[in-house]
Amino acid sequence: MSTAAEAVAKVKGGSFLLSPMGSLPQFCPEQFGDEAREFARAARDFMEGEVLPQDEAIDKLDLDLSTSLMKKAGELGLLGLEVPEAYEGMDVEKKTAMLVLEEMSKQGSFAVSYSCNTGIGTLPIVYFGTEAQKKTYLPRLATGQWLSAYALTEAGSGSDALGAKATAVLDGDHWVLNGSKMWITNAGFADVFTIFAKVNGELFSAFIVEKTDPGISTGAEEKKMGIKGSSTRTVILENCRIPKDRLLGDLGKGHKIAFGILNIGRFKLGVGSVGGMKRILEYTIRYTSERHQFGKPINSFGLIQQKLADMAARIFVGESLNFRTIGYLDDALAGTSWNSPTAGADKMAAIDEFAIECSISKVWCSEALFFIADEAVQAYGGYGFSAEYPPEKAERDCRINRIFEGTNEINRLLIAGTLLKRAMKGELPLMQFGQQVAKEVSSPPKAADFTGPLARLKHGVELSKRQCMLAAGLAVQVLGQKLVDNQEVMARMSNMLMEIYAMESSIVRAERMLEGSHRWAEIARDLTELYVNESWHRVHGDARMLCADVVEGEALRHALAGVKAFSEFHPTSSARLRGRIASQLIQKGSYPIEVI
Ligand SMILES: Cc1cc2nc3c(=O)[nH]c(=O)nc-3n(C[C@H](O)[C@H](O)[C@H](O)COP(=O)(O)OP(=O)(O)OC[C@H]3O[C@@H](n4cnc5c(N)ncnc54)[C@H](O)[C@@H]3O)c2cc1C
Repeated sequence: MSTAAEAVAKVKGGSFLLSPMGSLPQFCPEQFGDEAREFARAARDFMEGEVLPQDEAIDKLDLDLSTSLMKKAGELGLLGLEVPEAYEGMDVEKKTAMLVLEEMSKQGSFAVSYSCNTGIGTLPIVYFGTEAQKKTYLPRLATGQWLSAYALTEAGSGSDALGAKATAVLDGDHWVLNGSKMWITNAGFADVFTIFAKVNGELFSAFIVEKTDPGISTGAEEKKMGIKGSSTRTVILENCRIPKDRLLGDLGKGHKIAFGILNIGRFKLGVGSVGGMKRILEYTIRYTSERHQFGKPINSFGLIQQKLADMAARIFVGESLNFRTIGYLDDALAGTSWNSPTAGADKMAAIDEFAIECSISKVWCSEALFFIADEAVQAYGGYGFSAEYPPEKAERDCRINRIFEGTNEINRLLIAGTLLKRAMKGELPLMQFGQQVAKEVSSPPKAADFTGPLARLKHGVELSKRQCMLAAGLAVQVLGQKLVDNQEVMARMSNMLMEIYAMESSIVRAERMLEGSHRWAEIARDLTELYVNESWHRVHGDARMLCADVVEGEALRHALAGVKAFSEFHPTSSARLRGRIASQLIQKGSYPIEVI
């Protein structure tokens, strides 16, 4: 392992809060090599040549068209990127597969079909399949000969997935499955399903079911708010008989598959969201330069420039935090081997280490995408409300991202909950950091302690980490075990953690671009500064409000004085930054920082 990889292998999930600003290794998109860029260019060509021209037809739910596009993607090798080479896949690093996914996500419905097929549809077999199962299914899935789906949710159990009612009973050499799964993406054309059911009503387990197995059928297509071109159906199991060897993973260990695969689904959703953001910004820049009011293009107005700049800042930040997480995952996965008998479990454990960061990608990016889609509607004015123009569909399509792969509420509970659990187990020195911060109240970090072109912003993040720690520490002290049941407090903690991760990831990337004299370094600096300007105050506000949620009176005054001790961060003018950013966007006609 290289020294850099060794350093990453030591990074623990959630440790970004406790580590000095910028001290952890970080992969940045500017580090991509030629091979990854070529894969991503092939994906872009495929999208521009085959998928985007069929935008309207796809959204009329033409399943033959969706199937043929997926199969074409398979022929190009775009379905087998995460499948091991032994089964006709390419087994590229996650970061390469994610660079491709970002490109494949520029049509909302297709993005969901593709991401489901290559992610939650195929990966359960990649990570948990027996040799025979892998040999049977993976070559077909990697090449697009077969397509896949993942069936966990039921009408009565969504967030509470383990409350599933579907059953499996062993009858001689066969399992007999009964029950009904709801909201199953790709169900209309999938050839193979990973289905979760309880053996004897108790042992939650996963099974591989083929569409031609006796007793499986699908319901009608759901009528949805958005992603209307993706297939979503109920999957019905009526005495569905499958051979005994189709149990996937260990009996009673289905939760490991269900939750492990969802972690992957989460960072993928974050990446896909950035793909969507880029497309929306591109047409919004174009529209706002063509649309004139009061004798001027509307992009000359400060409040339209504000929207363009805020969109671009979120793209830069989202991309930075996603690839930081994916870099950690790749290095953790590099320490595992497909040849080990416990390969699947080892790889899941490597990914699970970064469950906090995976949830951050999911929540932060899905909300940023929704913000961008909504701002696009607004920038288009009345036309934005018309189904004839693209923002209306974008807003409907992206709304689902806050719901599936674990709702954003559930993921917020996971972010703070996982951090606290790890601290309790002694895996993260949260208490020690809390003691350090308590001592620093009388001598907080000073701006002069930081160096480099973004020293001021780095100081801001260090202060944010301390405000978060003080407030969270107070919540732990006052609420103890009851903290996890105080969901609003947990969500505030998660909001602060997300903002800290976002600010830090963006600063590290921008600083590297500045130090490397990257062509777009100056706009990267402006985008980062704009984001930190606004985000810092969100953390500050949340820290104060969290204190008010847990103490009152003199104790609250004392707590707020502590937070104030870490608040010597002076903003710069967001208006000036936005003006500069917008003029670059308008001049270039697109988001300038091209990764591929
Ligand atoms: C288009 C689409 C595609 C989908 N694709 C798939 C698929 O391929 N495979 C699959 O298995 N599933 C799929 N799903 C299901 C999806 O994952 C679930 O809808 C999601 O997990 C939420 O479950 P639910 O709908 O039952 O909502 P509920 O769990 O009933 O939640 C309702 C509300 O209550 C909140 N809530 C629930 N529990 C808590 C709690 N403990 N604390 C605080 N708030 C809580 C939720 O955040 C939400 O706001 C899909 C759904 C849709 C709409």
